[in-house]
Amino acid sequence: MPSVHLLGTGAAISDPHRTTTMIAVSEDEPPYRTLVVDCGGDVLQRLQACDRPIDSVDGLIVTHAHMDHTSGFPLLMEKVWLDGRNRALPVFGIEPALAQAGRLWEAFEPVHHDWEGIPPIDWREIEHAPDTPVWPDAPWTVIATPVNHGDTPNVGLRIEHDPTGHVLGYSCDTAPTDNVVDLAQDCNILIHEANGVPGGNHSTAVEAAEAARDADANRLLLVHLPPGDKSAEIADARAVFPNTDPADELGTYPF
Ligand SMILES: [Zn+2]
Repeated sequence: MPSVHLLGTGAAISDPHRTTTMIAVSEDEPPYRTLVVDCGGDVLQRLQACDRPIDSVDGLIVTHAHMDHTSGFPLLMEKVWLDGRNRALPVFGIEPALAQAGRLWEAFEPVHHDWEGIPPIDWREIEHAPDTPVWPDAPWTVIATPVNHGDTPNVGLRIEHDPTGHVLGYSCDTAPTDNVVDLAQDCNILIHEANGVPGGNHSTAVEAAEAARDADANRLLLVHLPPGDKSAEIADARAVFPNTDPADELGTYPF
């Protein structure tokens, strides 16, 4: 059975118990085959808090260049090195996202240039185009599709667990777009952001619910949550798509 781990569920600033939005998927038995999506904070500490070891990480996907999705990359590399990883770390993303992660890593070059045995970073640039294959290895089939995050190129993800056929959709940061509805079609869980006010580069909870409804998703979990009481927005979203919940910080959800 696959699970999604909500390693962080907040906006760049959120409630005191929510950090930046980062997710991971894994299987429920070792070696777990964990994929991590985004690293705008101490993502591997959050993964450990969800009972998945650092060395279970098969790869990282970086969606876009914003700080709250990339800034923890050098720390992630320090941690995988200290954890004794030898094998390369595949890092997938569109060009601007990988360039940002690369600059962040290079900014620390005076620190890590003489570290013995640091694992190679296996940069895997993907096309910024609909239905782009991302992950080539079992047990996951991952597809990326552009979303609408203003001037910042960004992708949403469709993550299929091959043995079960179960599907996770992830909107990433986006205003409402048919591309999210397409990538999330018939998914078991849609993880959708609900950061925004109408008309910006983000979505409201109601707009997320409309995407879940139109995609025929089974369940909607809201992430990238701003600070404050969300009960009114959640109630409005449930009127559109009843199976809607704000994601639990550090929650693990089988899908
Ligand atoms: Zn963003």
